[in-house]
Amino acid sequence: MGPDSYYDILGVPRSADEKEIKKAYRSLARKYHPDVCKDPGAEERFKKINEAYSVLSDSQKRAQYDRMGHTAYSSASKGSYSGGGGFSGGFSADFSGFGDIFETFFGGGGRQRAGPRPGADLLMKQQVTLEEAVFGTEKEVSLDHIEPCPACDGSGSETRKFTTCSTCGGSGQMRQMSQSIFGNFVRMSTCTTCGGRGRIPESRCKTCGGSGHQRARQTVKVRIPPGVDTGMRLRMEGYGDAGEYGAPGGDLFIEISVAPHRTFTRRGDDLETAVDITPAQATLGSEIEVQTIDRRTVVLGIPAGVQHNTGLRIPGEGVRWQTKPGDMLVRVRIVVPDRLTDEERDLYARLLEIEGKRPPPKGAKKGKSFFQDVVDKVKETVK
Ligand SMILES: [Zn+2]
Ligand SMILES: [Zn+2]
Repeated sequence: MGPDSYYDILGVPRSADEKEIKKAYRSLARKYHPDVCKDPGAEERFKKINEAYSVLSDSQKRAQYDRMGHTAYSSASKGSYSGGGGFSGGFSADFSGFGDIFETFFGGGGRQRAGPRPGADLLMKQQVTLEEAVFGTEKEVSLDHIEPCPACDGSGSETRKFTTCSTCGGSGQMRQMSQSIFGNFVRMSTCTTCGGRGRIPESRCKTCGGSGHQRARQTVKVRIPPGVDTGMRLRMEGYGDAGEYGAPGGDLFIEISVAPHRTFTRRGDDLETAVDITPAQATLGSEIEVQTIDRRTVVLGIPAGVQHNTGLRIPGEGVRWQTKPGDMLVRVRIVVPDRLTDEERDLYARLLEIEGKRPPPKGAKKGKSFFQDVVDKVKETVK
């Protein structure tokens, strides 16, 4: 059998454009997929179709192929298709979206990825105080994660060498027959002997049993930058679970939650707090001292005639993490005194007189509102 050109394999003319090549490939791949086509030699043919497509669909490879001719090109690039790890059990990276069809069709064992799998990302929650969130801090967190086994450097093999898995022949996948409404199908599943790696340690590491991994508690120093807020995630690259031998580890994400503060509430980069003032302070204006988040005392001027619940702004005393710091917002609450000295009572009485308002009726109980009075009477009748 003489070598067919890639154009012959796909059944397209040499002048075929990208679209024609893709179309031809799709219909042939569907027809000769080894899980669908039971003809002897279907698998071989399917491999050839894939090989042809991987060259002709890549404009650079195709140009090179056209220049070199079939024999020269295929011998020059030998080894890059079969046994290179990228081609396992009929599924290759060249499917690009087409693989989905097969996945839904066969309920296959998920998307195949070439090469060793990277480690999993880990997520940890860390609560900080508002002060820590505003000024930044350093925390030590400890968590369980998967580390490379130190005895075998994470390889799982005492000699650091591997042999091809004999169960799956190195593909990492096993075939199982399964029935569906379309008939009998071969279902791909991960090889249980090698766990999908396609290779097994030459001599299993005794420390980790060949997995290359061990569970360990790690303590990580986390620098929490100033300005963090609830829901923000810090990423510690490489602090997640170890990956398969030769693959990168996952990342550790620290999700921040800021504990409620006794006096401050964060609003964006502003910090809000509240102070009580007397009616006299509100009426005449005043000067009060308030404490900032970093426990400094600053003087705040209360303007004359300030109304209840007015917010007064102290610039720059909020969260400082961007070029423009936030402000401190002070909400003034006018609190009516419920206890008066004789002198104060005289002065309020005099004020009432000046305002031309009537004093309370005789017998009104001190410190109780009209409604409280009514409530008391209702209680008495219910008794
Ligand atoms: Zn295997
Ligand atoms: Zn080991």
